Amino acid sequence: MIVGAGFGGLATARALKGVGVRTTLVEANNFHTFQPLLYQVASAGLAADDVGHPVRPIFRGRDDIEVVMARVTDVDVAARRVELDHGGSLTYDSLVLACGAVSNSFGVEGVDEHAFPLKDLDDALAVRDHLLTRFEDALVDPSLVADGALDVVVSGGGPTGVEVAGGLAELYRMVLAADFPSLPVDEARIVLVEPQDRLLSSFSERSSGRALRRLQQVGVDVRLGVGVRRVSEDRVVLSDGTELVAHTTVWATGVKASPLAERLGVPTGRGGRIEVAADLSLPDAPEVFAIGDVAAARDRAGELLPQVAQPALQAGRHVARQIERRVGGLPTESFRYVDKGSMATIGRRAAVAELPNGWRLDGTVGWLAWLGLHLVYLMGFRNRVSVFLAWCWNYVTYDRASRLLSGTTRRRRSQDRPRRGGAGGVGPR
Ligand SMILES: Cc1cc2nc3c(=O)[nH]c(=O)nc-3n(C[C@H](O)[C@H](O)[C@H](O)COP(=O)(O)OP(=O)(O)OC[C@H]3O[C@@H](n4cnc5c(N)ncnc54)[C@H](O)[C@@H]3O)c2cc1C
Repeated sequence: MIVGAGFGGLATARALKGVGVRTTLVEANNFHTFQPLLYQVASAGLAADDVGHPVRPIFRGRDDIEVVMARVTDVDVAARRVELDHGGSLTYDSLVLACGAVSNSFGVEGVDEHAFPLKDLDDALAVRDHLLTRFEDALVDPSLVADGALDVVVSGGGPTGVEVAGGLAELYRMVLAADFPSLPVDEARIVLVEPQDRLLSSFSERSSGRALRRLQQVGVDVRLGVGVRRVSEDRVVLSDGTELVAHTTVWATGVKASPLAERLGVPTGRGGRIEVAADLSLPDAPEVFAIGDVAAARDRAGELLPQVAQPALQAGRHVARQIERRVGGLPTESFRYVDKGSMATIGRRAAVAELPNGWRLDGTVGWLAWLGLHLVYLMGFRNRVSVFLAWCWNYVTYDRASRLLSGTTRRRRSQDRPRRGGAGGVGPR
Protein backbone atom coordinates (compact mmCIF):
# COMPACT_ATOMS: atom_id res chain seq x y z
CA MET A 1 0.00 0.00 0.00
CA ILE A 2 1.18 3.47 -0.90
CA VAL A 3 -0.28 6.53 0.85
CA GLY A 4 -0.06 9.64 -1.31
CA ALA A 5 0.20 10.15 -5.07
CA GLY A 6 2.72 12.98 -4.93
CA PHE A 7 6.24 12.74 -6.35
CA GLY A 8 7.30 9.95 -4.00
CA GLY A 9 4.13 7.83 -4.13
CA LEU A 10 3.87 7.96 -7.91
CA ALA A 11 7.56 7.12 -8.33
CA THR A 12 7.10 4.06 -6.10
CA ALA A 13 3.95 2.91 -7.88
CA ARG A 14 5.54 3.30 -11.30
CA ALA A 15 8.71 1.46 -10.29
CA LEU A 16 6.67 -1.45 -8.92
CA LYS A 17 5.58 -2.29 -12.46
CA GLY A 18 6.41 -5.89 -13.23
CA VAL A 19 7.55 -6.68 -9.68
CA GLY A 20 4.64 -9.04 -9.18
CA VAL A 21 3.00 -7.42 -6.17
CA ARG A 22 -0.52 -6.03 -5.86
CA THR A 23 -0.48 -2.32 -5.03
CA THR A 24 -3.16 -0.11 -3.52
CA LEU A 25 -2.48 3.59 -3.96
CA VAL A 26 -4.50 5.69 -1.51
CA GLU A 27 -4.67 9.40 -2.31
CA ALA A 28 -6.84 12.04 -0.66
CA ASN A 29 -7.51 13.74 -4.03
CA ASN A 30 -8.31 12.10 -7.32
CA PHE A 31 -5.32 13.92 -8.81
CA HIS A 32 -1.58 14.41 -8.48
CA THR A 33 -0.41 17.98 -7.82
CA PHE A 34 2.75 19.35 -9.39
CA GLN A 35 3.55 21.70 -6.50
CA PRO A 36 6.50 23.54 -8.10
CA LEU A 37 4.06 25.32 -10.42
CA LEU A 38 1.41 26.18 -7.83
CA TYR A 39 2.66 29.75 -7.64
CA GLN A 40 1.80 30.14 -11.34
CA VAL A 41 -1.80 29.12 -10.59
CA ALA A 42 -1.83 31.63 -7.73
CA SER A 43 -0.57 34.34 -10.07
CA ALA A 44 -3.05 33.40 -12.84
CA GLY A 45 -0.39 32.18 -15.28
CA LEU A 46 -1.63 28.58 -15.39
CA ALA A 47 -4.99 26.86 -14.94
CA ALA A 48 -5.61 24.35 -12.15
CA ASP A 49 -5.71 21.36 -14.48
CA ASP A 50 -2.34 22.30 -15.97
CA VAL A 51 -0.64 21.45 -12.69
CA GLY A 52 -3.03 18.77 -11.43
CA HIS A 53 -3.29 15.42 -13.21
CA PRO A 54 -5.92 12.74 -12.49
CA VAL A 55 -4.30 9.71 -10.89
CA ARG A 56 -6.32 6.93 -12.48
CA PRO A 57 -5.23 7.44 -16.11
CA ILE A 58 -1.57 7.34 -15.02
CA PHE A 59 -2.09 3.65 -14.23
CA ARG A 60 -4.40 2.74 -17.10
CA GLY A 61 -3.42 -0.74 -18.26
CA ARG A 62 -1.78 -1.62 -14.93
CA ASP A 63 -4.03 -4.31 -13.46
CA ASP A 64 -1.62 -4.72 -10.52
CA ILE A 65 -2.63 -1.29 -9.12
CA GLU A 66 -5.83 -0.17 -7.52
CA VAL A 67 -6.33 3.54 -6.85
CA VAL A 68 -8.49 4.46 -3.85
CA MET A 69 -9.54 8.06 -3.31
CA ALA A 70 -9.56 8.48 0.47
CA ARG A 71 -7.66 10.25 3.21
CA VAL A 72 -5.81 7.93 5.58
CA THR A 73 -6.68 9.08 9.08
CA ASP A 74 -4.73 6.57 11.12
CA VAL A 75 -2.20 3.78 10.81
CA ASP A 76 -2.17 0.76 13.13
CA VAL A 77 1.38 -0.46 12.59
CA ALA A 78 0.95 -3.55 14.80
CA ALA A 79 -2.22 -4.67 12.98
CA ARG A 80 -0.84 -3.57 9.56
CA ARG A 81 -4.01 -1.60 8.88
CA VAL A 82 -4.89 1.94 7.80
CA GLU A 83 -8.14 3.73 8.62
CA LEU A 84 -9.81 5.82 5.92
CA ASP A 85 -11.79 9.03 6.28
CA HIS A 86 -14.94 7.50 4.82
CA GLY A 87 -15.02 4.93 7.59
CA GLY A 88 -13.44 1.86 6.02
CA SER A 89 -10.04 0.36 6.65
CA LEU A 90 -7.49 -1.51 4.53
CA THR A 91 -4.76 -3.95 5.49
CA TYR A 92 -1.29 -4.22 3.96
CA ASP A 93 1.84 -6.35 3.87
CA SER A 94 4.14 -3.42 3.06
CA LEU A 95 3.28 0.24 3.55
CA VAL A 96 4.92 3.22 1.85
CA LEU A 97 4.07 6.51 3.53
CA ALA A 98 4.46 9.25 0.92
CA CYS A 99 1.92 11.70 2.31
CA GLY A 100 4.13 14.79 2.12
CA ALA A 101 3.96 17.90 4.28
CA VAL A 102 1.57 20.67 5.25
CA SER A 103 2.12 24.38 5.73
CA ASN A 104 3.70 25.28 9.07
CA SER A 105 2.43 28.40 10.82
CA PHE A 106 5.25 28.13 13.42
CA GLY A 107 2.67 29.27 15.97
CA VAL A 108 2.62 32.83 14.59
CA GLU A 109 -0.55 34.58 15.72
CA GLY A 110 -3.28 34.87 13.10
CA VAL A 111 -1.56 32.79 10.42
CA ASP A 112 -3.98 29.86 10.52
CA GLU A 113 -6.97 32.20 10.38
CA HIS A 114 -5.84 34.90 7.97
CA ALA A 115 -2.78 33.93 5.92
CA PHE A 116 -2.95 31.96 2.68
CA PRO A 117 -0.72 28.88 2.58
CA LEU A 118 0.48 27.61 -0.80
CA LYS A 119 0.67 23.87 -0.46
CA ASP A 120 -2.05 22.49 -2.71
CA LEU A 121 -4.25 23.41 -5.62
CA ASP A 122 -7.05 24.76 -3.44
CA ASP A 123 -4.54 27.05 -1.73
CA ALA A 124 -3.28 28.40 -5.06
CA LEU A 125 -6.81 29.04 -6.33
CA ALA A 126 -7.73 30.68 -3.04
CA VAL A 127 -4.83 33.17 -3.37
CA ARG A 128 -5.72 33.97 -6.97
CA ASP A 129 -9.45 34.33 -6.32
CA HIS A 130 -8.89 36.42 -3.21
CA LEU A 131 -6.56 38.84 -5.01
CA LEU A 132 -8.81 39.21 -8.04
CA THR A 133 -11.80 39.75 -5.77
CA ARG A 134 -9.92 42.44 -3.83
CA PHE A 135 -9.32 44.28 -7.11
CA GLU A 136 -13.01 44.04 -8.03
CA ASP A 137 -13.97 45.28 -4.56
CA ALA A 138 -11.52 48.18 -4.69
CA LEU A 139 -12.99 49.32 -7.96
CA VAL A 140 -16.41 49.57 -6.33
CA ASP A 141 -15.10 51.12 -3.12
CA PRO A 142 -11.82 52.99 -3.79
CA SER A 143 -11.36 53.65 -0.04
CA LEU A 144 -10.28 50.02 0.22
CA VAL A 145 -7.07 50.82 -1.67
CA ALA A 146 -5.66 52.91 1.19
CA ASP A 147 -6.76 50.13 3.57
CA GLY A 148 -4.41 47.69 1.78
CA ALA A 149 -6.87 45.85 -0.48
CA LEU A 150 -4.31 45.59 -3.28
CA ASP A 151 -1.26 45.08 -1.06
CA VAL A 152 0.30 41.69 -0.47
CA VAL A 153 2.78 40.45 2.11
CA VAL A 154 4.65 37.27 1.20
CA SER A 155 6.27 35.68 4.23
CA GLY A 156 9.36 33.59 3.48
CA GLY A 157 12.28 34.32 1.16
CA GLY A 158 12.96 30.73 0.09
CA PRO A 159 12.26 29.54 -3.46
CA THR A 160 8.46 29.52 -2.98
CA GLY A 161 8.31 33.04 -1.51
CA VAL A 162 10.63 34.42 -4.19
CA GLU A 163 8.62 32.78 -6.96
CA VAL A 164 5.29 33.97 -5.57
CA ALA A 165 6.50 37.54 -5.07
CA GLY A 166 8.01 37.66 -8.57
CA GLY A 167 4.91 36.06 -10.13
CA LEU A 168 2.53 38.46 -8.40
CA ALA A 169 4.65 41.49 -9.32
CA GLU A 170 4.41 40.48 -12.98
CA LEU A 171 0.68 39.83 -12.68
CA TYR A 172 0.19 43.31 -11.22
CA ARG A 173 2.40 45.15 -13.71
CA MET A 174 1.51 43.25 -16.88
CA VAL A 175 -2.12 42.32 -16.41
CA LEU A 176 -4.00 43.93 -13.55
CA ALA A 177 -2.70 47.43 -14.27
CA ALA A 178 -4.32 47.12 -17.72
CA ASP A 179 -7.47 45.38 -16.44
CA PHE A 180 -8.08 48.04 -13.79
CA PRO A 181 -6.80 51.30 -15.31
CA SER A 182 -8.66 53.44 -12.79
CA LEU A 183 -6.97 51.77 -9.80
CA PRO A 184 -3.49 52.91 -8.65
CA VAL A 185 -1.99 49.47 -9.30
CA ASP A 186 1.52 50.96 -9.59
CA GLU A 187 1.28 52.02 -5.96
CA ALA A 188 0.17 48.61 -4.70
CA ARG A 189 2.87 47.04 -2.56
CA ILE A 190 4.13 43.50 -2.73
CA VAL A 191 6.34 43.04 0.31
CA LEU A 192 8.55 39.99 0.71
CA VAL A 193 9.60 39.37 4.32
CA GLU A 194 12.53 37.10 5.18
CA PRO A 195 14.00 36.74 8.70
CA GLN A 196 17.47 35.80 7.43
CA ASP A 197 19.80 38.40 6.02
CA ARG A 198 19.45 37.13 2.45
CA LEU A 199 16.94 35.49 0.12
CA LEU A 200 17.30 31.88 -1.07
CA SER A 201 19.58 31.00 1.84
CA SER A 202 20.16 27.46 0.50
CA PHE A 203 21.73 28.97 -2.63
CA SER A 204 25.06 30.78 -3.02
CA GLU A 205 25.32 34.43 -2.00
CA ARG A 206 25.69 35.37 -5.65
CA SER A 207 22.32 33.77 -6.53
CA SER A 208 20.73 35.40 -3.47
CA GLY A 209 22.01 38.78 -4.64
CA ARG A 210 20.67 38.25 -8.15
CA ALA A 211 17.26 37.23 -6.81
CA LEU A 212 17.15 40.32 -4.60
CA ARG A 213 18.10 42.70 -7.40
CA ARG A 214 15.64 41.14 -9.82
CA LEU A 215 12.75 41.32 -7.35
CA GLN A 216 13.56 44.93 -6.58
CA GLN A 217 13.63 45.68 -10.33
CA VAL A 218 10.08 44.37 -10.72
CA GLY A 219 8.96 46.47 -7.76
CA VAL A 220 8.92 43.98 -4.88
CA ASP A 221 9.68 45.59 -1.52
CA VAL A 222 12.08 43.07 0.07
CA ARG A 223 12.52 43.26 3.87
CA LEU A 224 15.44 41.15 5.11
CA GLY A 225 16.30 40.32 8.71
CA VAL A 226 12.72 40.68 9.86
CA GLY A 227 9.96 38.14 10.40
CA VAL A 228 6.20 38.20 10.73
CA ARG A 229 4.93 38.55 14.31
CA ARG A 230 1.17 38.75 13.75
CA VAL A 231 -1.27 38.50 10.86
CA SER A 232 -4.82 39.81 10.84
CA GLU A 233 -7.38 40.12 8.08
CA ASP A 234 -5.91 43.37 6.79
CA ARG A 235 -2.68 44.02 8.72
CA VAL A 236 0.67 42.33 9.19
CA VAL A 237 2.91 43.22 12.12
CA LEU A 238 6.61 42.50 11.64
CA SER A 239 9.10 41.49 14.32
CA ASP A 240 10.58 45.02 14.35
CA GLY A 241 7.13 46.43 15.16
CA THR A 242 6.41 47.75 11.65
CA GLU A 243 2.74 47.46 10.73
CA LEU A 244 1.92 46.85 7.07
CA VAL A 245 -1.55 47.19 5.60
CA ALA A 246 -2.32 44.20 3.38
CA HIS A 247 -5.50 42.26 2.79
CA THR A 248 -3.47 39.33 1.47
CA THR A 249 -0.70 37.48 3.29
CA VAL A 250 0.85 34.51 1.51
CA TRP A 251 2.52 32.14 3.95
CA ALA A 252 5.55 30.59 2.26
CA THR A 253 7.55 30.28 5.46
CA GLY A 254 7.98 26.54 5.72
CA VAL A 255 6.35 23.14 6.07
CA LYS A 256 5.98 20.38 8.63
CA ALA A 257 5.37 16.68 8.04
CA SER A 258 1.85 15.45 7.30
CA PRO A 259 -0.15 15.06 10.54
CA LEU A 260 -0.33 11.34 9.75
CA ALA A 261 3.33 11.07 10.88
CA GLU A 262 2.27 11.82 14.46
CA ARG A 263 -0.43 9.16 14.38
CA LEU A 264 2.14 6.40 13.94
CA GLY A 265 3.55 6.84 17.42
CA VAL A 266 7.12 6.38 16.14
CA PRO A 267 10.07 8.78 16.66
CA THR A 268 9.90 11.95 14.60
CA GLY A 269 12.57 14.59 14.09
CA ARG A 270 12.71 18.22 12.98
CA GLY A 271 9.42 19.41 11.49
CA GLY A 272 7.68 16.22 12.63
CA ARG A 273 9.44 14.13 9.97
CA ILE A 274 9.51 10.36 10.54
CA GLU A 275 12.94 9.01 11.48
CA VAL A 276 13.87 6.25 9.04
CA ALA A 277 16.63 3.64 8.87
CA ALA A 278 19.23 3.69 6.09
CA ASP A 279 16.95 1.68 3.77
CA LEU A 280 14.08 4.19 4.48
CA SER A 281 12.05 1.70 6.54
CA LEU A 282 10.98 2.39 10.11
CA PRO A 283 13.57 1.03 12.58
CA ASP A 284 10.93 -0.96 14.52
CA ALA A 285 8.63 -1.81 11.62
CA PRO A 286 10.67 -2.85 8.57
CA GLU A 287 7.51 -3.44 6.52
CA VAL A 288 6.75 0.32 6.70
CA PHE A 289 8.72 2.80 4.59
CA ALA A 290 8.51 6.60 4.75
CA ILE A 291 9.71 8.76 1.86
CA GLY A 292 9.75 12.33 0.62
CA ASP A 293 8.67 15.32 2.68
CA VAL A 294 7.21 13.18 5.50
CA ALA A 295 10.50 11.37 6.16
CA ALA A 296 13.72 12.47 7.87
CA ALA A 297 16.00 10.74 5.36
CA ARG A 298 19.68 11.71 5.36
CA ASP A 299 22.52 11.88 2.88
CA ARG A 300 25.86 10.11 3.31
CA ALA A 301 27.17 12.92 5.50
CA GLY A 302 24.18 12.50 7.83
CA GLU A 303 22.54 15.75 6.73
CA LEU A 304 18.74 15.83 6.49
CA LEU A 305 17.63 15.78 2.86
CA PRO A 306 15.74 18.88 1.74
CA GLN A 307 11.96 18.74 1.32
CA VAL A 308 12.03 19.02 -2.47
CA ALA A 309 11.02 16.78 -5.35
CA GLN A 310 14.27 14.88 -6.04
CA PRO A 311 14.61 13.14 -2.64
CA ALA A 312 10.98 12.01 -2.96
CA LEU A 313 11.38 10.76 -6.54
CA GLN A 314 14.63 8.93 -5.83
CA ALA A 315 13.34 7.47 -2.57
CA GLY A 316 10.20 6.22 -4.34
CA ARG A 317 12.26 4.28 -6.86
CA HIS A 318 14.57 3.00 -4.10
CA VAL A 319 11.69 1.70 -1.99
CA ALA A 320 10.15 -0.13 -4.96
CA ARG A 321 13.51 -1.87 -5.47
CA GLN A 322 13.64 -2.85 -1.80
CA ILE A 323 10.16 -4.34 -1.97
CA GLU A 324 11.27 -6.31 -5.03
CA ARG A 325 14.38 -7.51 -3.17
CA ARG A 326 12.31 -8.67 -0.24
CA VAL A 327 9.96 -10.55 -2.54
CA GLY A 328 13.06 -12.22 -3.97
CA GLY A 329 14.32 -13.09 -0.45
CA LEU A 330 17.19 -10.55 -0.59
CA PRO A 331 18.18 -8.10 2.16
CA THR A 332 17.38 -4.41 1.68
CA GLU A 333 20.00 -1.82 0.68
CA SER A 334 20.76 1.67 1.96
CA PHE A 335 19.32 4.66 0.13
CA ARG A 336 21.92 6.75 -1.71
CA TYR A 337 20.71 10.22 -2.62
CA VAL A 338 22.16 11.87 -5.71
CA ASP A 339 22.07 15.67 -5.48
CA LYS A 340 21.02 17.15 -8.82
CA GLY A 341 21.20 20.81 -7.80
CA SER A 342 18.59 23.50 -7.13
CA MET A 343 16.68 26.07 -9.11
CA ALA A 344 14.34 28.98 -8.52
CA THR A 345 12.75 31.38 -10.94
CA ILE A 346 12.24 35.04 -10.23
CA GLY A 347 10.05 35.87 -13.20
CA ARG A 348 10.27 36.57 -16.89
CA ARG A 349 13.68 35.49 -18.23
CA ALA A 350 15.12 35.35 -14.74
CA ALA A 351 16.06 32.26 -12.75
CA VAL A 352 18.96 30.91 -10.77
CA ALA A 353 20.17 27.33 -11.06
CA GLU A 354 23.04 25.74 -9.18
CA LEU A 355 24.40 22.36 -10.19
CA PRO A 356 26.39 20.04 -7.88
CA ASN A 357 29.51 20.39 -10.07
CA GLY A 358 29.59 24.10 -9.22
CA TRP A 359 28.02 25.35 -12.46
CA ARG A 360 25.68 28.29 -12.04
CA LEU A 361 23.12 29.40 -14.55
CA ASP A 362 21.16 32.59 -14.31
CA GLY A 363 19.28 35.14 -16.39
CA THR A 364 17.73 33.85 -19.63
CA VAL A 365 19.82 30.65 -19.71
CA GLY A 366 18.82 29.76 -16.15
CA TRP A 367 15.22 30.56 -16.94
CA LEU A 368 15.18 28.35 -20.06
CA ALA A 369 16.76 25.53 -18.03
CA TRP A 370 14.08 26.03 -15.36
CA LEU A 371 11.27 25.94 -17.96
CA GLY A 372 12.68 22.83 -19.66
CA LEU A 373 13.16 20.89 -16.45
CA HIS A 374 9.69 21.67 -15.17
CA LEU A 375 8.17 20.55 -18.45
CA VAL A 376 10.10 17.27 -18.28
CA TYR A 377 8.94 16.49 -14.74
CA LEU A 378 5.37 17.66 -15.21
CA MET A 379 2.90 14.77 -15.18
CA GLY A 380 1.19 13.88 -18.47
CA PHE A 381 1.72 14.84 -22.11
CA ARG A 382 -1.45 16.97 -22.27
CA ASN A 383 -0.31 18.99 -19.28
CA ARG A 384 3.12 19.52 -20.82
CA VAL A 385 1.64 20.77 -24.09
CA SER A 386 -0.89 22.94 -22.29
CA VAL A 387 1.72 24.48 -19.96
CA PHE A 388 4.14 25.05 -22.83
CA LEU A 389 1.44 26.83 -24.86
CA ALA A 390 0.35 28.88 -21.84
CA TRP A 391 3.96 29.95 -21.23
CA CYS A 392 4.39 30.93 -24.90
CA TRP A 393 1.11 32.86 -24.77
CA ASN A 394 2.02 34.62 -21.51
CA TYR A 395 5.47 35.47 -22.81
CA VAL A 396 4.38 36.86 -26.17
CA THR A 397 1.21 38.67 -25.11
CA TYR A 398 2.18 39.69 -21.54
CA ASP A 399 -1.20 38.26 -20.59
CA ARG A 400 -2.37 35.77 -17.95
CA ALA A 401 -5.38 33.86 -19.17
CA SER A 402 -6.43 32.02 -16.01
CA ARG A 403 -8.30 34.63 -14.04
CA LEU A 404 -11.92 33.55 -14.09
CA LEU A 405 -13.73 33.97 -10.80
CA SER A 406 -16.06 31.04 -10.26
CA GLY A 407 -19.66 31.36 -9.09
CA THR A 408 -18.62 29.93 -5.73
CA THR A 409 -16.10 32.73 -5.24
CA ARG A 410 -18.62 35.36 -6.24
CA ARG A 411 -21.23 33.96 -3.87
CA ARG A 412 -18.69 33.85 -1.02
CA ARG A 413 -17.77 37.45 -1.80
CA SER A 414 -21.35 38.67 -1.54
CA GLN A 415 -21.66 36.92 1.83
CA ASP A 416 -18.41 38.63 2.97
CA ARG A 417 -19.41 42.09 1.87
CA PRO A 418 -20.90 43.57 5.04
CA ARG A 419 -17.88 42.40 7.09
CA ARG A 420 -15.29 43.51 4.54
CA GLY A 421 -16.92 46.67 3.32
CA GLY A 422 -15.36 49.26 5.63
CA ALA A 423 -16.46 52.83 5.16
CA GLY A 424 -19.40 53.01 2.83
CA GLY A 425 -19.54 49.22 2.30
CA VAL A 426 -19.06 47.45 -0.99
CA GLY A 427 -22.30 47.65 -2.88
CA PRO A 428 -23.33 45.71 -5.96
CA ARG A 429 -21.88 47.04 -9.18
C1 LIG B 1 4.60 26.00 -3.66
C2 LIG B 1 5.65 24.92 -3.71
C3 LIG B 1 6.69 25.03 -4.63
C4 LIG B 1 7.67 24.04 -4.69
N1 LIG B 1 8.66 24.16 -5.62
C5 LIG B 1 9.57 23.18 -5.74
C6 LIG B 1 10.58 23.23 -6.75
O1 LIG B 1 10.64 24.19 -7.54
N2 LIG B 1 11.46 22.20 -6.85
C7 LIG B 1 11.40 21.13 -6.00
O2 LIG B 1 12.18 20.21 -6.14
N3 LIG B 1 10.47 21.05 -5.03
C8 LIG B 1 9.56 22.04 -4.88
N4 LIG B 1 8.61 21.97 -3.90
C9 LIG B 1 8.65 20.85 -2.95
C10 LIG B 1 8.10 19.58 -3.57
O3 LIG B 1 6.90 19.84 -4.24
C11 LIG B 1 7.91 18.55 -2.47
O4 LIG B 1 9.14 18.35 -1.82
C12 LIG B 1 7.41 17.23 -3.03
O5 LIG B 1 6.13 17.40 -3.58
C13 LIG B 1 7.40 16.15 -1.97
O6 LIG B 1 6.92 14.98 -2.53
P1 LIG B 1 6.13 13.94 -1.63
O7 LIG B 1 5.81 12.79 -2.51
O8 LIG B 1 6.87 13.69 -0.38
O9 LIG B 1 4.81 14.69 -1.20
P2 LIG B 1 3.71 15.43 -2.07
O10 LIG B 1 4.16 15.66 -3.46
O11 LIG B 1 3.28 16.57 -1.26
O12 LIG B 1 2.54 14.36 -2.13
C14 LIG B 1 1.83 13.96 -1.00
C15 LIG B 1 0.49 13.42 -1.46
O13 LIG B 1 -0.11 12.75 -0.40
C16 LIG B 1 -1.46 13.09 -0.34
N5 LIG B 1 -1.87 12.92 1.06
C17 LIG B 1 -1.46 13.65 2.12
N6 LIG B 1 -1.99 13.17 3.25
C18 LIG B 1 -2.73 12.10 2.88
C19 LIG B 1 -3.53 11.18 3.63
N7 LIG B 1 -3.63 11.27 4.96
N8 LIG B 1 -4.17 10.23 2.95
C20 LIG B 1 -4.07 10.12 1.60
N9 LIG B 1 -3.33 10.96 0.86
C21 LIG B 1 -2.66 11.94 1.50
C22 LIG B 1 -1.52 14.52 -0.81
O14 LIG B 1 -2.82 14.83 -1.30
C23 LIG B 1 -0.47 14.51 -1.89
O15 LIG B 1 -0.99 14.20 -3.15
C24 LIG B 1 7.61 22.93 -3.81
C25 LIG B 1 6.57 22.83 -2.90
C26 LIG B 1 5.60 23.82 -2.85
C27 LIG B 1 4.49 23.68 -1.85
